[in-house]
Amino acid sequence: MAVLAMLLVAAGVSFLLFSLKPAVTICRQDNNAGWKILLMLIICFLFGYLLFLYYLYGIDSTSFIENSLAIILFGGSIFVMMVINLSLKSIRKIQSIARQERHNSLHDSLTGLANRKHFLTAISDKVEQSAPFSVFILDLNGFKQINDMLGHYYADQVLIKAAAVIKRQLPEECFFSRIGGDQFTLISSAVTDENIRNLMTCIHLALKTPFNINSYNLKISMCCGGSVFPENSNQIVTLLQQADNAMSEAKKRQVGYITYNDSLDNDAKYRLEISSRLHNALAENQFQVHYQPLINVKAGRIHHFEALIRWPAAEGGFIPPDKFIPIAEQNNLIRQITICVLNNICDHLQELKQAGLSSCIHINLSTRDLQDDHISVRLAELINQGRILAKELVLEVTETAVMNDISATKTVLMQLSRQGFLISLDDFGTGYSSLSILLELPIHQIKIDRSFVTSMQEKRNSRSIVQSIILLAHNLGCTVVAEGVETKVLVDELTNLKCDYLQGYYYSKPLPVTALIEYCRDTDKMQPVCADFSI
Ligand code: C2E
Ligand code: CA
Ligand code: CA
Repeated sequence: MAVLAMLLVAAGVSFLLFSLKPAVTICRQDNNAGWKILLMLIICFLFGYLLFLYYLYGIDSTSFIENSLAIILFGGSIFVMMVINLSLKSIRKIQSIARQERHNSLHDSLTGLANRKHFLTAISDKVEQSAPFSVFILDLNGFKQINDMLGHYYADQVLIKAAAVIKRQLPEECFFSRIGGDQFTLISSAVTDENIRNLMTCIHLALKTPFNINSYNLKISMCCGGSVFPENSNQIVTLLQQADNAMSEAKKRQVGYITYNDSLDNDAKYRLEISSRLHNALAENQFQVHYQPLINVKAGRIHHFEALIRWPAAEGGFIPPDKFIPIAEQNNLIRQITICVLNNICDHLQELKQAGLSSCIHINLSTRDLQDDHISVRLAELINQGRILAKELVLEVTETAVMNDISATKTVLMQLSRQGFLISLDDFGTGYSSLSILLELPIHQIKIDRSFVTSMQEKRNSRSIVQSIILLAHNLGCTVVAEGVETKVLVDELTNLKCDYLQGYYYSKPLPVTALIEYCRDTDKMQPVCADFSI
């Protein structure tokens, strides 16, 4: 009988010994005092069990109480072993979940790269280490178009592939992250011009091969803007602002990358100043509208006029529209500016009519005007008030504005077309639109971008492009305007290529309405304007 009790207690001792290792592991991983007390208790129990075993060894037979105690000790040891092992398992599970959570909170779920939070920690660690480094903001070009045209699935695949190929190409030391949308960041120890150039070459090499996603071959490019610590600033906020400014400038100039320099700051200050002055200009009605004639080549007559906004500068002359229109677009002031130009046009149309010059005026619409129906509503009001006829206005929309948000633009243009307005696609050739867009949208006229026209004589490519655009437009039932015609040679060349209308300094610079009336009356220069509302 003593043997059975001894076996039970001996088994209990081994179970307690089995519990020791996991108990020590728990104590190492969790500093809670409770676990240490539990470990001490197990060791004390072990001594108790061994003493009792020694006691049993010394007696011949066991009483009921001794047997019961042996059974209880055996059960107790199993209990301790189970509790300890299950606790260790739970602790490990919780730790693994916590590790996963920590990883998730610091990584982007789509690309697996470090996320914004991780990036901010990494950059502040870098600043603390105080060794020079550069930080870059990388922005995919044309990502919105991919999203709009092909949908989220393809856009996500582009982000995943771009992240993977760039990461593979970058040196080990770089910290590469995605901070949201199509924006990525890069922290690198490259600070000299040459090292930065090599780093940027890595990125552009990574994107050299088009991405093959299902049946599509998508060519992706990026614009990057960078700033250097501590050369440009030792403040994180400033470094990021500078990198962002540099990136916007790279986008504007359509170059691969720009590293921040002081002149970018001056540019930002200039933009801020223009932006605040624009509000005043609108409130004080400072804007004027000038008109440039479009010439009908075949008829040899003035055909239509393009309205071009003019903002008088305090120091004389005008602030060029190319400088303030993009800022007005960013500030959402462009809608008010378009309405202001429209009101001017209505008044000037009356003046032109009184001078016997019934004609049609082209107005430039901006990207923002194509996002909702405010222009269509305002035009309907003007028609109802009898201030304008739909046939007296041609709406010029740039190819880039159309490509910015094709589905919204299509809705707006369809509505305007139903209202009877003709639509002219401006700056054609610069916006990378697919030819199918021309079939989908109600486009009646194509204006070849000035850059192709002016370089036609020096560059064979430009001449071929102009010739192809004219052919394409005619095949699609559209007429063609060539902008930027400055010489007689160009007039002859474009006439040979069967371009329908010409516009440029060769004929006239944009003129205020009174000068325009004079110009039209000067029959030595040109036959009088004809009332031709077609385009
Ligand atoms: P755009 O619509 O392509 O207008 C033609 C621009 O080319 C005008 O510049 C015009 O003055 C200029 N130009 C015309 N013929 C020649 C030429 O023979 N040689 C050269 N070098 N230039 C020529 P401007 O008036 O400075 O306007 C620049 C751009 O600003 C316009 O390009 C248009 O995109 C925008 N813009 C002008 N007025 C408005 C407006 O009322 N609303 C909007 N949203 N944009 C406008
Ligand atoms: Ca235009
Ligand atoms: Ca143009």
